Amino acid sequence: MFIAFEGGDGSGKSTQARLLADRLRQEGQDVELTREPGGTDVGERLRSLVLDPAHAPIDAVTEALIFAAARSAHVRQLILPALEAGRTVITDRYMDSSVAYQGAGRALGPETVAGLNEWATGGLRPDLTVLLDADTTTAAGRRATREQSPGGAGPDRLESEPEAFHQSIRTAFTDRAKAHPDRYLVLDAGRDIPALAAEVWARVAGLLGA
Ligand code: C5P
Repeated sequence: MFIAFEGGDGSGKSTQARLLADRLRQEGQDVELTREPGGTDVGERLRSLVLDPAHAPIDAVTEALIFAAARSAHVRQLILPALEAGRTVITDRYMDSSVAYQGAGRALGPETVAGLNEWATGGLRPDLTVLLDADTTTAAGRRATREQSPGGAGPDRLESEPEAFHQSIRTAFTDRAKAHPDRYLVLDAGRDIPALAAEVWARVAGLLGA
């Protein structure tokens, strides 16, 4: 099974991805918890390249191609082999992030970026995408107070972007979910962590037939 967690910066998706991985492991599942950009050596190098302020500014097309290249490596070198070995893969971000950030936020066009990423991934889709939908005020508050994760972008990478940028990202995520309700679980990221984890688990347990 292949599960993606998506959402804006500060939505709490990394916490929920980790909690689901822990829960599945308790149930005896063999889980690969990974992230984008990253997950492979190539992916982590591309992550450093694209997120390191030393390389800024990177134009939007180049940025979209770097994220897509990292994703291609991730799918071919890590995700597909793990799925073929019968493991459950949980990824913290997948192609919806590119559609939202580069397609909508950086205005390359959601369809263009979706097409690029269909090619990059060979059309591999998650069985379930969990979208942590945060209103832009809640997310900004969390970004301001959270600790930086290892290899994280830091709290203020996108802080200079206007409210409309963050709103366009949020809308792009929810539009993707509305188009395929059977493959998405959309949760209000403002709810508390255990309640969200319980909803995620209920949906995943249903998919597992548990
Ligand atoms: O999920 P995480 O916070 O580790 O993401 C790292 C950074 O990369 C975030 O600031 C996120 O907004 C950014 N990002 C992006 N475009 C993507 C994926 C992530 O700008 N396609």
